[in-house]
Amino acid sequence: MGRPAPAIVILGNGSLATARRIQQRYPDALIHGLAGRVEGADRDYQEFGATLRELYQQDTPIIALCAAGIVIRTLAPLLLEKGAEPPVLAVAEDGSAVVPLLGGLGGVNVLAREIAAALDVAAAITTSGELRFGTCLLNPPAGYALGDLELGKRFVSDLLAGESVRIEGPAPWLAAAQLPEDQQARLAIHVGHAERKPSANELLIYPRNVLVALTAGTAETLRAALHDANIALQSLACLLADEREMANPALREAALELGVPLRFSARPGSVLELARSAVPSLLTSIEINDSMAIAVAAEPLDPLLLGRPRGRLAVIGLGPGAAELMVPAVKAELARAHDILGYETYVRMAGPFRADQVMHCTDNREEMQRARHAFELAAQGRSVVVVSSGDPGVFAMAAAVLEALHESSDANWHNVDLEILPGVSASLATAAQAGAPLGHDFCVMSLSDNLKPWAIIEKRLDLASQADLALAFYNPISRSRPWQLGRALEIVAQHRTAETPVVLGRDIGRPGQTLRVTTLGQLTPDQVDMRTMVLIGSSTTCVFPRAEGGAWVYTPRWYGDKPTS
Ligand code: SAH
Repeated sequence: MGRPAPAIVILGNGSLATARRIQQRYPDALIHGLAGRVEGADRDYQEFGATLRELYQQDTPIIALCAAGIVIRTLAPLLLEKGAEPPVLAVAEDGSAVVPLLGGLGGVNVLAREIAAALDVAAAITTSGELRFGTCLLNPPAGYALGDLELGKRFVSDLLAGESVRIEGPAPWLAAAQLPEDQQARLAIHVGHAERKPSANELLIYPRNVLVALTAGTAETLRAALHDANIALQSLACLLADEREMANPALREAALELGVPLRFSARPGSVLELARSAVPSLLTSIEINDSMAIAVAAEPLDPLLLGRPRGRLAVIGLGPGAAELMVPAVKAELARAHDILGYETYVRMAGPFRADQVMHCTDNREEMQRARHAFELAAQGRSVVVVSSGDPGVFAMAAAVLEALHESSDANWHNVDLEILPGVSASLATAAQAGAPLGHDFCVMSLSDNLKPWAIIEKRLDLASQADLALAFYNPISRSRPWQLGRALEIVAQHRTAETPVVLGRDIGRPGQTLRVTTLGQLTPDQVDMRTMVLIGSSTTCVFPRAEGGAWVYTPRWYGDKPTS
């Protein structure tokens, strides 16, 4: 899998022109601007430190247009943690300096040179090996893997101390490097897929030219099979499974554990044939057993060209609207999506998207059709996201997607990697702003009678009110449903006093949000529209003034007699 596009992070409008020049070099990169300071960025952020750390932890390359010191201090707390280190660069806001800071093994110097070239300046490269040899020996190109980093560092420092080196095996990318080559040298760069004992005077680099075709197996059996064939695990490029095994969790786990992509293909006959037919320039092939075969290619393999991936469908919740209330898993899912489906308003809210991402906007009412379209796309191996506002499981797309799958007998749909990612639902976002009106037992209802008979709604309202549950009403009113809310409030009023606290949250977490605290006696349907969440307290819900104006609303956790504390 490739690294995500870089994030260009800026603090002020003064950096926008330089940011745009860098973006021309990386069209998929988004410009993140500080809200209130930058106009016209692709994404707004509220807090510089939190944003930078989040990007870093998501392994996103960072190009920060600010002082190097600010970036260093901001990321310092994360540097001792183990994990991926994405490239991080500081660029002067006028574009006059490009300073690679972190991610030497992630290609930061390559990025620095590219950016410097785009800005027509020299990159501030400080890595000795890179300066001397014109390449980072410890960061071989795509298709090759370094054997051991610690041994490698020592190897490079020996080279820097003046030793010469031999190159064994095909290393085309080193042709342009300036290495002190000598056939008699003690040090050797060894390129090959055979298993080899690490040693201090060899820099082992493995071409990723090995494919294992399989119908069953675990990481352990795969390791043993490669070992028996004298093939280094580092040379494993990809697992290719029979497409009938697409939903097989053991294969998925094996690929995850070994850190290689898992692709699928129709099996022509035996697994050996599957392995042999997948590899373009076959060197050797080995049949391990009925369910596993190895193929070794003459060149590194590009897994993206082998078979097809398992398609993915994620039904995600955006939360109420504000970016800070979107869970990180949802942000990551949006970044990896090929296709984004949903009601236009929500798709726009989830964006902006890159040029390579396809938006499919539909009317709010075409839910089943949208769900089926999502499966059709995902079944082709694409990564598809269906967006809902709030939580996708609360009067939204998750149930429609599952219904579409339940109704289908298409194995390709059932094989899709389906996941539902939660979001902050409007009732919870509204409740949090008001205090804790849902702090005790509560009942969530949609007042829309589009998909259920009104009689059921009346019955549930009556029983929930009788049960003294706090109430959260979604879809309280609309132009086509003008009278239902008034009737609902009449039913509630039969069981609750006129003083019962009511919270109205409109466009919570969105521009122009309003929060209003009133009472059941004062509430009239004209105070409510379809963008409003209505929360009605129970008999124990309390209200008291807040110091900054307005009121706090909460429902205590106890019921009946207050417990002594
Ligand atoms: N899945 C969504 C709910 C969809 S139903 C969620 O979990 O929030 C749509 C209804 O949700 C609207 O009619 C309104 O009552 C409520 N709603 C959604 N977003 C809202 C917001 N930002 N502020 C207030 N109410 C909202």
